[in-house]
Amino acid sequence: MKAIDELNLENKKVLIRVDFNVPLNDQLEVTDTSRIEAAKPSIQKVIEKGGKPILMSHLGRPKAKEKEFSLQNVVDKATEILGYKVKFVDDCVGQQVKDAISDLSNNEILLLENLRYYSEEKAGDDNFSKQLSDLADVYINDAFGTAHRAHASTTIIAKYFDEKAMGYLLKNEIDSLEKVMKAKEKPVTAIIGGAKVSSKIGVIENILSRVDHLIIGGGMSFTFVKAKGGSIGNSLVEDDKLDLANDIMKKAKENGVQLHLPVDVLAADEFKNDANTKVFSIDEIDDNWMGMDAGPNSKINFSDVIAQSKIILWNGPIGVFEMETFAEGTKTIGRAIADATDKGAFSLVGGGDSVAAAKQFDLADKMSYVSTGGGAMLEMLEGKSLPGIEALK
Ligand code: AMP
Repeated sequence: MKAIDELNLENKKVLIRVDFNVPLNDQLEVTDTSRIEAAKPSIQKVIEKGGKPILMSHLGRPKAKEKEFSLQNVVDKATEILGYKVKFVDDCVGQQVKDAISDLSNNEILLLENLRYYSEEKAGDDNFSKQLSDLADVYINDAFGTAHRAHASTTIIAKYFDEKAMGYLLKNEIDSLEKVMKAKEKPVTAIIGGAKVSSKIGVIENILSRVDHLIIGGGMSFTFVKAKGGSIGNSLVEDDKLDLANDIMKKAKENGVQLHLPVDVLAADEFKNDANTKVFSIDEIDDNWMGMDAGPNSKINFSDVIAQSKIILWNGPIGVFEMETFAEGTKTIGRAIADATDKGAFSLVGGGDSVAAAKQFDLADKMSYVSTGGGAMLEMLEGKSLPGIEALK
């Protein structure tokens, strides 16, 4: 698989699949620019190497070419962030687009209209992929967030190019994951939280042979506690996953993995921020109380494990962090990872709500790498190969 640096881009038309699927407010203004910023290094490199960048992306889930899903809404912010003039064309295939590309001067960028205005994009339509490929000489995929989808612009298109490469964002995501999965330093610690065991089972199974410590927190920990015979009151549980939890605990032992469950819990009498709260031992939660966040001793134990770690993977919050009353556990874990990173550990945050938590607590820039792709990172953590990456090989 080639990287941008290996390509000759002088006077080449370079079609870059970016992920400009950014949030917009009611005035159709971009409210979070991180995805545009993440695409900047690749676009800048293409320009520096004398290429003409043609950007294609999806935005939201349009049904009938609604105005609020037009990539026109992103043009001003993209111009501001990328530092070059961004021109826009209100289609993504056809003669009008080809003409706009011919009109492009050096140091200008062309942004195409929303790919998902065509249902062929998500369908992975071959003819549509071919039409897109007719626009350029070189293809770069830098849209990590959709790399797990075999869509026309992310996967099918690649076969029509001899010259193709991954962008810097895609490369950083892959490199960061490899630092964890093929870690040379020890100890390696994974913190897996979130609501359900069922949505994380693939990740847990894939990392069991690669980590020294596995911290399990959040809603999913109660299935483990119940499987061990504990009383979990009204806490979230998946009763059909008790055997699976026992199996994971057995496999962890066989692999020499130290599995850390919470020892205590901050519980609530209702699922709301201003509920009454009480701390219980993790396996002695009274009826009608539900575990909502890690308790004081769990926070200390988890932080101690993290402080000793050299490689850290964080996937999933360890409490209901969206409610302030129950955010402290997740915040403490985030801070412990930030401190360990500051002392030289490598930390990867990715695959779901832990990214939102790290951002909410202003900790994202204190981590070694924060993944930009929820579903895509989750699939990589599960050990699956992503079609968007395979197609570049
Ligand atoms: P996930 O998308 O699987 O990473 O799950 C994230 C969700 O898990 C967040 O919305 C959290 O509020 C939720 N969560 C974490 N801990 C708990 C808990 N103890 N009880 C219920 N939900 C939880």
